[in-house]
Amino acid sequence: MDIFCKIINNEIPSYTLYEDEIVKVFLDVNPNHNGHTLIVPKKHYQDFFDIDSKTLEHIFKVAK
Ligand SMILES: [Zn+2]
Repeated sequence: MDIFCKIINNEIPSYTLYEDEIVKVFLDVNPNHNGHTLIVPKKHYQDFFDIDSKTLEHIFKVAK
């Protein structure tokens, strides 16, 4: 299982800023990207282009 799915499943602790049924928003724990915020869909997608447009729309709405 990849690191993002582990964070979504709470197998890896994260500092969650926002969460709903579609996405989880948390702080990037990677020290090279300190303070960066990640918005990750709860359903697993292979990459950005694999994400359906409805979910993508929601991600951008949350990002804004
Ligand atoms: Zn995954």
